[in-house]
Amino acid sequence: MKTDKATNDTAIMDKIVSLAKRRGFVFQSSEIYGGLNGCWDYGPLGVELLRNIKDQWWQAMTYREDIEGIDAAILMHPRVWEASGHVANFTDPMVDCKECKARFRADQLEDAACGSPAYKGRKAIKCQAEGKFTEARQFNLMFKTFIGPVEDDGAVVYLRPETAQGIFVNFLNVQSASRQKPPFGIAQVGKAFRNEINTKNFLFRTREFEQMEMQFFVKPGSDIEWFDYWRKERLQWFVDLGMTKEKLQWHQHEPDKLAHYAKDAYDIEYQFPFGWGEIEGIHNRTDFDLSRHEEYSGKSMKYFDDQTKERYTPYIIETSAGASRSFMAFLVDAYREEEAPTAEGKAELRTVLKFHPKLAPIKAAVFPLVNRDGMPEIAKKIEATLRSQIRVFYDDSGAVGRRYRRQDEVGTPYCLTVDSQTLQDQTVTVRDRDSMQQERIIIESIPRYLRERLAD
Ligand code: ATP
Repeated sequence: MKTDKATNDTAIMDKIVSLAKRRGFVFQSSEIYGGLNGCWDYGPLGVELLRNIKDQWWQAMTYREDIEGIDAAILMHPRVWEASGHVANFTDPMVDCKECKARFRADQLEDAACGSPAYKGRKAIKCQAEGKFTEARQFNLMFKTFIGPVEDDGAVVYLRPETAQGIFVNFLNVQSASRQKPPFGIAQVGKAFRNEINTKNFLFRTREFEQMEMQFFVKPGSDIEWFDYWRKERLQWFVDLGMTKEKLQWHQHEPDKLAHYAKDAYDIEYQFPFGWGEIEGIHNRTDFDLSRHEEYSGKSMKYFDDQTKERYTPYIIETSAGASRSFMAFLVDAYREEEAPTAEGKAELRTVLKFHPKLAPIKAAVFPLVNRDGMPEIAKKIEATLRSQIRVFYDDSGAVGRRYRRQDEVGTPYCLTVDSQTLQDQTVTVRDRDSMQQERIIIESIPRYLRERLAD
């Protein structure tokens, strides 16, 4: 992570974290017990947003003829992690401060704050320069546990640190069951666990998170072409879902920093308030994974093309996105504070989450202007009709302006108000979240009106 001073706006981040809690997007895990570091719970609106992100990804990746989905177990045979290189290489260098006892990732000291209250605001890199740290030790990030009742070495299993291996070991199962031929891909969404030395920046670096990974199996020689194809597709996915293009950039891994399995690797980075950070990695993994599993399992992982009679180990192009990190990027990107006119013609500050309609947790809110004259009955009827199709919210408390603000704050694209004119001509006011423009439409046309706009 690079720190970009110009965008280092902790105040904005604090506001987003506080809004996320107040409105039910994200809560600290086990909060009543003081929280559990690096773990978060998704509340009623958060779970909708996260689900919408994962659904959009699933649709983009698997509603095509050359990609199949799977859902592999989190616990896998321990040999998987030896073959993958995780037992030997999935480590971060760790240092301890001899003075304040805080623990740091040795390669991230520029971003870390010193752990001692006596040196508030000081960077850990300074403490290192003063010789306060121990020598760096390699720390394996995999969570270890035991299968069965006996806690001995033979029973060790790991919580998967990535979903990718569940795909690799199932390559031939999926290929033969679905009668696919390379080039084809396997997609999976699921939890992953990493015992990160320092968790930080809200959902950015957590110990439990979700990944959305797609591994694309190709004939060696066609890997560069597919690598370029998937880079373009994956960046465009974020843009199509409304993410600000200027806040996305590519970071190419330098040849000497490439992971042991990779021939080429790019990260899609988002400009968070605390700096640029990776949200997805696109990697050319070569035939490393399948060859290693062949070596460690003793089972052939080669593909046989019965038309050309060729037998080969496919190369893999990996697209690996964090669902939780994407959640945070979409949330941060949607967050705006802007001036809005009040009913009295004055200006006030409104907080608005400008989510793409496909991601918005609530798609429409329905209000009766007042709680009499038959307005609540009409509004309730509209709500009931919509509820079977989309997530709607009914709100009859407070001034309409206040109700708009509450919906703006959670990113609801449309608010429908039943008022006295409704009683005469069967129309309601539709108010657009972003433009704040209002128009009248007839009640009957509401489902079609919303369907057309929400599908954009
Ligand atoms: P980093 O360098 O930030 O630790 P990484 O390069 O180890 O990330 P990958 O192994 O490529 O990450 O994982 C793919 C994706 O999984 C990342 O782009 C990110 O979106 C997500 N991810 C990885 N680690 C975490 C984590 N600790 N918390 C949340 N998301 C994560």
